[in-house]
Amino acid sequence: MKIDTSKYKVWNWKHPYMLHWIINPGLAFNELVLGQRVAKTLLVEKDKSKSLAEASFVPCPHCNALHDSRTWSTQNNTAFKNWFGLYCPNCGETIPCFLNLTSAIILVLTYPVWGWFRTRMKQKWLIKQSARFSSIDMESITPEFSNKNWIKMGLIWGLLMFVFMTLVSPWLSGESITQKFILGSLVIWTLAGLAFGYTMHKLMKRKLLTKA
Ligand SMILES: [Zn+2]
Repeated sequence: MKIDTSKYKVWNWKHPYMLHWIINPGLAFNELVLGQRVAKTLLVEKDKSKSLAEASFVPCPHCNALHDSRTWSTQNNTAFKNWFGLYCPNCGETIPCFLNLTSAIILVLTYPVWGWFRTRMKQKWLIKQSARFSSIDMESITPEFSNKNWIKMGLIWGLLMFVFMTLVSPWLSGESITQKFILGSLVIWTLAGLAFGYTMHKLMKRKLLTKA
């Protein structure tokens, strides 16, 4: 597929946002549990008058359709549960996505558990997709990570990480959980969450025509 580079900037793995997605171990949670995925190629319009959400597009390598990136968003209830990739509502194939490094390690280690069921799980998942994408609405979507939104987003992410890393992970590995450990983790994940939200906010910040 030919990309008009005079109109679009191509975000691939070299872009800081994408690198962050691959490297940050915390995002394995988003990928494996929530099913949030990031496509390997994102096209961002060079015209800066639009918000990032409005200006970014995901190309489908199977049918060459250029999808509004908000096709997969929390507002449309399609941001999560994309475990097998981003579903293309145009051709029904899945658009290739990045895999977080920590996710990759976890998937390799647990392969004997899920490897047997993968094909069946994917088939089941695929059947449900067309209904999920039948009533996509772009108009009422407000850009994420705008204004004060990043604090909320960061804290929610920090809370999820806290629950998983502090309570679930030691429980799985059989380590004991002390009060000091819980308090320390709470502080660390609150700060990490705010840092995460702020970084995303900075990366996502674009001039907004209507909401400046
Ligand atoms: Zn397609």
